This record gives sequence, C-alpha cells and structure tokens, in this order.
Amino acid sequence: MASIRLEQLRKAYPDGTVAVRELDLEIADGELLVLVGPSGCGKSTVLRLVAGLETPSRGRVFLGEADVTRRPPQERDLAMVFQSYALYPHMSVAENLGFGLRMRGVARPERTRRVAEVAALLGLEALLERRPAQLSGGQRQRVALGRAIAREPQAFLLDEPLSNLDARLRTETRTELARLRRRLRATMLYVTHDQEEAMTLGDRIAVMRDGRVQQIARPLEVYGRPSNAFVAQLVGSPAMNLIPCRLVQSGASPRLEGAGLRIDVAVASGARAGAPTSELWLGVRPHDVDLVASGSGDAEGRIDVVEAFGSGHLMHVELPDEGGARVLRVEVAADRPIEVNERVAVRLRRDRLHVFDAATGERVEGIRATPGSV
Ligand code: ADP
Repeated sequence: MASIRLEQLRKAYPDGTVAVRELDLEIADGELLVLVGPSGCGKSTVLRLVAGLETPSRGRVFLGEADVTRRPPQERDLAMVFQSYALYPHMSVAENLGFGLRMRGVARPERTRRVAEVAALLGLEALLERRPAQLSGGQRQRVALGRAIAREPQAFLLDEPLSNLDARLRTETRTELARLRRRLRATMLYVTHDQEEAMTLGDRIAVMRDGRVQQIARPLEVYGRPSNAFVAQLVGSPAMNLIPCRLVQSGASPRLEGAGLRIDVAVASGARAGAPTSELWLGVRPHDVDLVASGSGDAEGRIDVVEAFGSGHLMHVELPDEGGARVLRVEVAADRPIEVNERVAVRLRRDRLHVFDAATGERVEGIRATPGSV
C-alpha cells in the first residue's frame, strides 16, 4: 500500500466551473480518509483527479514517492469502487472478481487463488457461480469491492459505495467495510455526502465546501471542535443549533445575549474583546440542552413540534426573540412525556457551547461560558 499526497491541486472544468481549489491533502499509508460535503462541493472531482480520470489545471498528485500527475489511470495501480457496481452482467461472480487480473495478464492459477481468497474474505464463496442479476444489492456491492481487493492495488478510491443500498443494508455493509478494512490495512480515499458514514468509517475526515477543505481531523475532533459554522452544521445529527447573539461587555461580567438567552462568559485577552458588541453565533447541539425546572433555566419557550425517533424526541422549542421567535432544537429521552404547546425551561450545557463569528463563520476561541452561570 502507498500514501496519497495532493499538492496545490486545482481543477477548473472547460465551462469555467472551479471544482477544486488549491487542495493540499495527505492520506497516510494504511489510512482511511473520508471526503465529506454536500453535493457539488468537489468530492468526486478530487477522487477522479487521484484516479487520473481528470487532468488537474494545476498541482500534483503523488502515490507514495512517485509523481503520477501525468500518468494515465491504468498506470496508477489504484482500484476504484463506485456507487453503481458496474459488474459485468454476463459474467459469473468468480469471473467478475478475476476480471481485472485477467486484463492485466495474471496467470490462471494465481487468479484462481486470489479470487478464492477474496471470496473467503467477503463471504462470497457460495455465490461464485451466480450472475449479478441473481444477487442482492449488498452482495453486488461486495463483489464490486472484492474485484477491487483482488487487484491488490496501491490504494482504494471509493465513491459513495453504499448509497445505492437501502438504509439497513447500508449500515450493515458499513460495518462490514470497517471490519474488512482493519484486516486489509489499506490506504483508502472514501467519498460520501453522508456525515454519519464519514464519522463511523474515517480515521480522519476532510469536510469540503466549494472546492476547499474546511477542516481535516479525526471524527471526534471535528465533532467536538468544528472549525467553522458550516462544519458545525454538517457534522452531527440532528444538526447543531446556531443562535445569533451578541457579546455584551457592560456590567459585571461579559455575556452572550440572544434569543432571550444570557450566558455569562470569560473572554480571553486578545480574543476579540475589543468591540463592545460583536455579532456572533452561539452553537449548541440538541443533546447538549437540558430541560430544567421552571425558573432555573437560561430561557423558557413553547414546544412547537415534536419528532419521535425511537430512543428519544427532538423538540422544537420556540424561544421569544426580538421581532419573533427563534427555534431551539432540543433532544430529550423517550421516557420524558412531551406535550406540544407545553412551556419548558431550557439550560445549555456550559462546557458544550461553541462560538462562531457571524460574519465569517469562523470558530471564535477565547470566549468561554463560565461554568456556574445561569
Ligand atoms: P461532488 O462529488 O461533491 O458532488 P463534483 O466533484 O461532482 O461534486 O462537482 C463539483 C463541481 O464541479 C460541481 O459544481 C459540478 O457541477 C461541477 N462539475 C463536475 N463535473 C463537471 C464537468 N465535467 N464539467 C463541468 N462542471 C463539472
């Protein structure tokens, strides 16, 4: 296996669309890096640039120490797995698994050995004589994966490989993939729009927006310290609340005020303490908000909508705000009785608050809620 390194990679398509902008990225040998972001952010283009299916406008692609920027796809020794399985319908599973090897002139005994090995690895032994049409979606995707593995490439490129599977099969296959990958110790670049898939599979995840990486880190780091409001809202489900607020410095201690909330904070020196009021967003995840006794919360509001999701409820609480109401999403346990229109008091967990600059969206360090404040 080999590492993959991208240096200042840029891709402008002929129609002027800039899909990837000056991207620097390194995937270590044996690492699974997930590129995640909304549709159109440039993920597939990155993958296609690595594969050699697109030519960069600028920048370089390294596989291990080798600069492969100008090499055609067949000389890059990478295996791709797509969303559409692209199996050959007239070939058996065994023939599909061995196809890439046959094309590369691997002799029959070696082919047979590798196909048997991969079939055992993926639990496909009983299906080797079947045609793709006689397989379930999950089995087809396993064959597609097996075909890639059989080639023993330098690295794997996976483009939304699970998105054609139904929800249950998708989680099952995801688990299988995680297990398989631990055994293969393979270098993988994995593209998905699904943040949950990214969080569960990635050693690291790179969040993309408009052709740029917004943050690259381990999943829990991205979840716990999102570098900007875009990442904060993309990663984690249900999405983080972002409440417009101001930093108010008058009085005894500085506080954040917005949507009826007043949160005492400590402002580190130099951390934008200058302006008396700054337009900010206060970020808090729905399960970092507690329901508390009336009078002891940060704010009180009315439950507008309740969505049950089995292990809990997601409530939309309307907090009175200047000129209207602001919805705060709050996650509560399933055993708490909930009534629409009920008035509730909410309290935000002080050690789980995030602050972002409303103008740039960037995370603001140095403004921290003081623990005891109500
Ligand atoms: P993603 O995989 O994140 O959905 P893509 O890499 O497919 O995003 O696309 C990134 C941007 O480049 C989008 O705006 C898309 O419309 C554009 N794009 C992709 N392929 C082409 C192409 N062949 N010609 C012009 N624009 C393209």
